[in-house]
Amino acid sequence: MHGYLTNADRKLVDAVDRAVAREGQLSPESAELILAEVRTDMSAELLADLIDKAQMGLTEIAGVAKQSRADATAYGQALETQVAGLAGFAPENVLATLVQLTSSMIDRTRAAEAQLRDAGKQMNELRGSLAEARRVAESDALTGLANRRAFEAKLRRAVGHAREQGKPLALAFCDIDHFKKINDTHGHDVGDRILKFVAQRLASASSNNCYVARHGGEEFVMLFQDMEVDEAARIVDDVRADLQDRRLIAKQSGEPIGQVSFSAGVAGLAAGENGRQMLRAADQALYRAKREGRNRVVTAEA
Ligand code: GH3
Ligand code: MG
Ligand code: MG
Repeated sequence: MHGYLTNADRKLVDAVDRAVAREGQLSPESAELILAEVRTDMSAELLADLIDKAQMGLTEIAGVAKQSRADATAYGQALETQVAGLAGFAPENVLATLVQLTSSMIDRTRAAEAQLRDAGKQMNELRGSLAEARRVAESDALTGLANRRAFEAKLRRAVGHAREQGKPLALAFCDIDHFKKINDTHGHDVGDRILKFVAQRLASASSNNCYVARHGGEEFVMLFQDMEVDEAARIVDDVRADLQDRRLIAKQSGEPIGQVSFSAGVAGLAAGENGRQMLRAADQALYRAKREGRNRVVTAEA
């Protein structure tokens, strides 16, 4: 908890404050979860930083390789022209030696060209592996959705876009209702499957304008670009209504789980506000949704 006490880690401070606001105190279980989350986040962040650096290095090397290949090609061509020119003039023996010498230089140049081509191919493969590593670093292993790190980057870009273009932006914070009880009654594995199922239901709303991510635990975020808060709230409420109408059954045991629902808070980006403030407003609306009985979508007061 050193990070909390020194206020050094914003994410940690936020997570603890939210848990305290919701539960009245910080239970050992919540503390454990928060720490696990922060740890996962940190390693994902480290990995993503490494990927960024490697990608920058690759771009640089690729530039150098491209330039050397062009140089080698130009050099090879110049030599070839020269040899062809010499063939008509010098005495035969001198000419033969010259031609041989030059030809071997041409061969060496060609070999160098081929090596550079191979290196280029290898770099392209490496670039593919890096893109895959980036995809893994930005997605959540359980649900396959974007993770919090990817979401935060997306949120920063979206806020910038909304400001520049003068377009609306809305955000929903969704939290599964009584999820602890589901875990306690049916076990963690069933809990995990329900998380995946809810993630899939939320993802069904995703589109060019709607970005869905797992924020952590049983909390999800939806970002609505170029969309007013009321329309965003309507979309979230459609997903909520569809989910509450389903009666779930545990696949392996056949045991009925019954109704699963989530609550959501939706907020729009107010003038002069940043992403963090919008997220906080959505979280406060979510808190109201929970207090007012759960299984509902509440819009933040403007
Ligand atoms: P509320 O309606 O107020 O949101 O109640 P809740 O029980 O959903 O909320 P609470 O925050 O008390 O519990 C969240 C639970 O989510 C606690 C934790 O065990 C569970 N959880 C978090 N991440 C995972 C996960 O990856 N898998 C499983 N199975 N459970 C998880
Ligand atoms: Mg929660
Ligand atoms: Mg919950």
